[in-house]
Order: sequence, then C-alpha cells, then structure tokens
Amino acid sequence: MVTASSSAKTSFAGPQIHLRGRLVTEESGRLSIGSAPILYGLAVYTVLPVTYDVKTKQHLAFRLADHVRRLNDSAKIVGLQLDEPLSEKKFTEHLHDLLVQNNVRQDVLVRSTLFTDEVLAGTKSHGLPTSFSMYAYSGPQFYNPNGIHVCVSSWRRTPDVCIPSRAKINGSYINATLMKNQALAEGYDDAIALDTAGHVAESTVANIFIIRGGKLITPDPSADILEGITRDTVIQWAERQGIKVVQRQIDRSELYIADEIFITGTSARITPVLTVDKRPVANGRAGKLTKQLQNEYAELLSGKVTIEPAWITVL
Ligand code: PMP
Repeated sequence: MVTASSSAKTSFAGPQIHLRGRLVTEESGRLSIGSAPILYGLAVYTVLPVTYDVKTKQHLAFRLADHVRRLNDSAKIVGLQLDEPLSEKKFTEHLHDLLVQNNVRQDVLVRSTLFTDEVLAGTKSHGLPTSFSMYAYSGPQFYNPNGIHVCVSSWRRTPDVCIPSRAKINGSYINATLMKNQALAEGYDDAIALDTAGHVAESTVANIFIIRGGKLITPDPSADILEGITRDTVIQWAERQGIKVVQRQIDRSELYIADEIFITGTSARITPVLTVDKRPVANGRAGKLTKQLQNEYAELLSGKVTIEPAWITVL
C-alpha cells in the first residue's frame, strides 16, 4: 500500500550552508554531539519553497515574510534568546547568498533554523546564545501527488499545554516520528493525528482539509495544529474563488464520509488522501476540487497567478 518513493534521496543543493552568519561547507558546519539541539531538540525551524524560473533565471520565494514571522514566533514561544527578531531583510540576504554561491538552478526547499548554540547546556535556552542556520535541498516529491493512504494514529497530537504545536519546534517532531513509524510499519503512507480530546488535528507534517457538500472544512488554529502557511494559502485562495471554508472541530467519523480529503504543507504541497483506515475516501480516487486546488497551488508557487503580490519575493 505504501506509495511514497523510498529509493531516491534528498540532498543538499550545493556544498555551502549558512551557519552563524557565514557560508561554510556542510562538512565544516556541523554541530557538536553535546550541543543543545542534539541533546534536547532545542531549535525551531521553517521550510520555505523557492522556485527557479528558467526563462528569467530568477529565484522566487513563496511567502517569505510569513515564514520569517513564524520562525520568530516559534523562537518566542520556546524562549530562545534573541536580542531582536530575525529581520526579513537579513533572512533575504542570507537566502540570496546561499542560492547564488551554490549556483542553484532548480526548485529547492530552504530550511532555516534558530537554535540554542551551547554545548552541554542543560534543558534551558534562558541566558544562552541563539544562532541561525540555513540550507537548500532538493529531492523526490515528499508524497505521491496522485494520493496517499493514511490511518488514524493511536498516538495523539501533543497538546498546547505540553509542547505547543503552533511553534515549529525540532524536538516536538518525535510525536510525528512515532506516528509515521507506526503508519509505515502497518503499510500506510502516513497517519492522521487526533488531539487529546479525540478530534482530528493534522497529519505528521501537514494540515488536513475535508470536503463535504462543496465546503472545505479544516480544524481551527486552536486545535493543536501548526498554523501552516500552505493551509492559509488554500483558505485565502479558495475563499477568493467563492468556495466556502469552515474552520471547526472535525470528528474522526467525518473522515469516513467526506467527499474528498487532502493534506497541505510546504513539502506535502497539496496531496489527495485516497483511503483512511483502508476505507476509500469517496471512490478512492483524487477528488475534482482537490485536483483543481493542487494545480492552482503550483501556479501560486511560481507566481503565475497570485492574489497577493507580496507572497512572491524575487531574489
Ligand atoms: N503541520 C505540521 C506538523 C508540519 O510539520 C507542517 C510542515 N511545516 C505543516 C503542518 C504544514 O505547514 P506549512 O504549510 O507551513 O509547510
């Protein structure tokens, strides 16, 4: 049943990475095994999509300002020490450097991290320095764009009172790993997590939408989900097309009667869900509206269509 490709690999898009304000080779930019991110996952990150336009030879970053804002918000929630928030200007300069010095001429994902930069620090970030890193990478599509098979996980999404899901915290991905491992071992591509109250939250690395009666329904931001930027793009884009979007609690049983289901994320893009717990969603094929949104999202990423010019940063 597993449809994701496991043979092709993700790789760095060039030898250089950004670390502590300068470009270094990936080999010389490694952290100590005693560093706080290794010991406690004390880091926050975001993954930004960058499209390369072969005609104009320009790189186009999608919703860069929103990624920088979420990165700063995540740092704030965890309590990483920053004299001032990372500016959009500095972030853009680092990104431009990285793409030019690596001679990147393809679509890439760019992972940027703020981390507690201390060795043998103990479980705290208070009073300790924070550093920044950034690298570009490429690889096979995260999910089969034709669709995936998921289960509802027996693990629950970590609640805001334990590890806040709206912060993109490296250490919190253990929760996703537990779900993903279980799903893969049972022959699924991925899992859907319920929150501790038993309502649908999201998948391991993507937000979820169900379609019922022509309406898009997605859990609201207080449902222990990451406030996904792709989720917000879909909401804004759909509303602009006159499609009704409702943000509310979703019950597990609604997954079994939905007309269509898809998940959204920078890596996941828009991926149709074909079955849940081995039950076909509608007829077990990608739905019409899902496919339409999937195509339109690709055009938004490359700036071919837009509803908000500020979403595209030309580098
Ligand atoms: N939820 C989780 C847990 C994620 O890791 C991601 C991927 N960043 C998302 C949702 C989707 O967020 P975005 O659309 O901003 O990539």
